[in-house]
Amino acid sequence: MSSIGSRKAVALFSGGLDSMLAVRILQQQGFEVEALNVRTIFQCCKAPAARAAAQLGVRLTVLGVGDDYLDLLRNPRHGYGKGCNPCVDCRAYMGRMARRLMEECGACVVISGEVVGQRPNSQKRQQLGVVARDAGLEGRLLRPLSAKLLPPTIPEIEGLVDRRSLYGFHGRGRRPLIELATRLGIREIPTPSTGCALAEKNFSPRVKDLFEHQPAARRWEFELLNTGRHFRFDRKTKMVVGRNERENALLERVFQQAASGEVLMVEPADFVGPVGLLVGAAGDTTINSLAALLVRYTRQCDPDRASVRVWRGGQCHVRRARLAEAVQPARRL
Ligand code: SF4
Repeated sequence: MSSIGSRKAVALFSGGLDSMLAVRILQQQGFEVEALNVRTIFQCCKAPAARAAAQLGVRLTVLGVGDDYLDLLRNPRHGYGKGCNPCVDCRAYMGRMARRLMEECGACVVISGEVVGQRPNSQKRQQLGVVARDAGLEGRLLRPLSAKLLPPTIPEIEGLVDRRSLYGFHGRGRRPLIELATRLGIREIPTPSTGCALAEKNFSPRVKDLFEHQPAARRWEFELLNTGRHFRFDRKTKMVVGRNERENALLERVFQQAASGEVLMVEPADFVGPVGLLVGAAGDTTINSLAALLVRYTRQCDPDRASVRVWRGGQCHVRRARLAEAVQPARRL
């Protein structure tokens, strides 16, 4: 259990400006803060948290989400935002992780950099209350940047946190927050991150396609959504083609780690081009069609002479690409 009376806080910490400010405000009230960075499957820009924590002089704990996060993605209690982003449920999930850390380290409060009205759905005043309730943090989740617009938390009521020194920010404006950062001595102001792919509208078709065709998809299938160009070939088969060397290497790793027979890998044998994966049923037509995609995404290839290596489990064979027998995938995702 958290120690009532302790001046220790756990911060949900992305490393962005808002979470840095939340930490600094509590530090100014004499709190020792432990930062928790939760990594979901779809966030990018992971490096800033370490840099920001170092700047603030706080200990950083980094935790990844468990497989139960996949259930949340499929069936969020509070629905999705504009994309496939279940933000209210996701924040509550992170809140539960923070609550466990709060109890472990004897802190009395969890803080976050949320600002009322900053995000259209998940940061409405009412939704902030829902997040606190679902996280099991009612009265213990403090948003220092907007606290004056929200009901007082237990540490404020008990006088451990001075409510008068908290803030009442509202809305999306970044300038007042930058001004506050300057006043609070935060020298390196992070640029806004590109954030979480789930919130991007053009990422949604991939996620929806996975829900529709692989309702019991496992973690690696969700992780694969972050990499490459995706094509729905038919009801049973999806194709993924790397866009650069980094993605080609990631696709090779997915192939190596997938159970034998679940994924087939096709790569150029005599030209320079991308790696492709076939997820699902693989036959002659699908292999030729994936080979055609590899040829399409390379500039240095004679289509009449192209050969590919086909990997199935630990077995590999080389064959002509047979582009005349290729079929266009049903759609690009
Ligand atoms: S944007 Fe992504 S990581 Fe952030 S709360 Fe929403 S779903 Fe979670």
